[in-house]
This record gives sequence, structure tokens and C-alpha cells, in this order.
Amino acid sequence: MKFNTKTIHGGQKPDPAYGAVMSPIYQTTTYAQDTPGGHKGFEYSRSKNPTRSALENAVASIENGNYGLAFGSGLAAIDAVIKLLKSGDEVISTSDLYGGSYRLFTAVFEKLGIKFHFVDMENTDNIEKFVNKNTKLLWVETPTNPMMNIIDIKGCAVLAKKYNLLLAVDNTFATPYLQQPLDLGADIVMHSATKYLGGHSDVVLGVLALKDKELADRLYFIQNASGAVCGPQDSFLVLRGIKTLHIRMQRHCENGRDIAKYLAKHPKIERVYWPGFKDHPNHDIAKSQMTDFGGMISFTTKGNNYEESIRIVENLKVFTLAESLGGVESLAGHPASMTHASIPKEEREKTGVVDSLIRLSVGIEDIEDLIADLEQAIG
Ligand SMILES: *Cc1c(COP(=O)(O)O)cnc(C)c1O
Repeated sequence: MKFNTKTIHGGQKPDPAYGAVMSPIYQTTTYAQDTPGGHKGFEYSRSKNPTRSALENAVASIENGNYGLAFGSGLAAIDAVIKLLKSGDEVISTSDLYGGSYRLFTAVFEKLGIKFHFVDMENTDNIEKFVNKNTKLLWVETPTNPMMNIIDIKGCAVLAKKYNLLLAVDNTFATPYLQQPLDLGADIVMHSATKYLGGHSDVVLGVLALKDKELADRLYFIQNASGAVCGPQDSFLVLRGIKTLHIRMQRHCENGRDIAKYLAKHPKIERVYWPGFKDHPNHDIAKSQMTDFGGMISFTTKGNNYEESIRIVENLKVFTLAESLGGVESLAGHPASMTHASIPKEEREKTGVVDSLIRLSVGIEDIEDLIADLEQAIG
């Protein structure tokens, strides 16, 4: 099956009870047994629920994996991966990663004795310096947020193989429509399905996809033992979202390209961060591991004025000023005053999050309306 067919049919079959084409929402905790242990594969919904299983099968299919696991949020999915490790183990992580992942690593897991190195991974040689006998996991996020840096997944896979490390990739920004990390050598793919997989800004959920049975069994054990599972209603919403992932992503990419080009020509814009530009520092890697460049764009304005950028995001009318990303509607954010406000100015500026930086999650509205909105807001 090819990708667009997989988003609709991958891992799915009509429900055995009445032939329902969409998985019913099995809003139940428990399942009747004929005799002790005589059940139809489901005993208790923390361990397994048919709606969640339908979603997990779909996720495994679109990521070219064999196993999927769904959790109550993206962070709960990451939490399960880190619980593969034990005190004394070390992780090498992308430096400019999602703030919530950074908080989970440093404020929760470091206390439990796991050590994290946050490394600029744009050049894979940088990573090798941090490998030692305790290193167990490479945690890679690409493209990064909000600077849209690209990390070479294949290069990381070579390193992971050489030192016998697990390679996990947060594929939230790219989605499997653009990038399939398991095929590039990753062991685990993670998503905040809250974003593009769900696609409609109405559900918080996280997933993992993987190929290896032994690793899947260990993660399933953690999923059931820790219990951070998603409910059947939320599983249904993400399953429904996945069925249109390919057409949504196609439009996100088209609109993203037009807006990146529009901004690059605008006299008030200083710099546009979008991996589709030939002069993006990692454009060649982006081109080799992604089929297109997505709908996430960041830009700065000339003069780097904090108030000016606040005024721009406040003036937007079609773009909504909000956190999050990946929904059908266009969103705009100002990292310095929103997602990165708690990071000291000098620290955030080191990674490129300057006062005027604005991040766009370009939606799937008519491009003319989006550009007109930017035009009136930037002035
Ligand atoms: C949102 C996000 C997460 C966290 O997911 P939640 O569903 O909010 O828990 C992790 N990684 C990336 C890249 C994200 O954008």
C-alpha cells in the first residue's frame, strides 16, 4: 500500500461486531469473559481498548512500523521512552527541542539519575563527542522548534548503530507524510498527535511507532504499568484526523511555500526560517530526508523590535494568536513573550529566539486570505 491509501486503510478493518467501517468508540472499561481468562483479546481498557488498538495500528502503518502505542499526550509518550532507561544512563538530545520535552528531561528524569546532554546536532560529528559507556539513547527532533533546523536522521542512525544506542525521533513537525524516520534507521518514532495527526486542534494525544517486537513489548509493558493511556473518544478523533493527513499536509506545504516566498521578499522582513530555501543551512539534508518542507515558518523583522512583533501578531485576523500548531487553522506565536518567555533573554538569543521572532503554523485556508492578513498586519 502507498502512503495516501495507508492513511485511510492502514491497519484498519471493519469492526467485527456489526461491520462498522469506522472503529466505534468503545467507551468501556471492562469486557465480559465466558470463563476466567476466556475473553476476546480485551480484558481491561488500560491494558487494551479496541478503539485505541485501531489508532495504534493506523499509526504503525503510516510510519512503516510494525507496532504503535498511544498515550494521553505527546509528553506521556516521551515519558514512556525515557522509562526504558535506568539511573546512571545518559541521553544525548537535540539542544533546541520542544520546551515541554526539555522540562520533562531536566525537571523530572535528571532527579531520578538519568543524565541528559543537549547538543547542537546539525553537524552529526558534534554528537559523537558526548558518547560514553553510559550513553543509551539519542533523542532527535527535526525540524526543530522554532528555528527550523534540520538534523540528519540517517547520520544519527549510523552513530546509533556504531555505539549500540537507541535512536528516537520526534516526528511531530514533519509527520510521516514528509519524513519516515523508521525507514531512515530510527528505532522509535514519537508524535504529539495533538498537532498534525489529529489536525483539528481538538484533542491532546501522543503516539509511538516502531518496528522491533522486543522493544515494542518493553514499551507496551511501560504503557500498561504506568497507565498514561488515551481514552477511546480521543483515539477516535486522532484516527479520524489521520484519514485526511495527506491532503491536509499537501495544502500545508503549498501554503507554507507561498508564505515563505512572500515573506522573503517583504521589505520589512529580516530573515525567514524555512528549510525549503536553497540557502537554508541544512537544505540538502532536508531535501534528502523530507518529501516537502511543511507549513511551519519562523521570521524576524528588521530592527528586531519586541513591541513591533507584538503589534504584528495582535493585528493578525485570519491567523489566530495562540500556542500549538498543526491544525487546519493558521496560528501565529511570538516565542520571546510566549513559549520561550521563561528562558533568560541571553540564553534564548543564543539559539536564535530574538525579540522580533514570529512563528507561523500555516493552515489550509485560501492562500490569498492568509497573505492579505500578513500584509495588513506587517504593514
Ligand atoms: C507539542 C509537542 C510535544 C508535546 O506534546 P503534547 O501532546 O503537548 O504533550 C512534543 N514535541 C513537539 C515537537 C511538540 O510540538
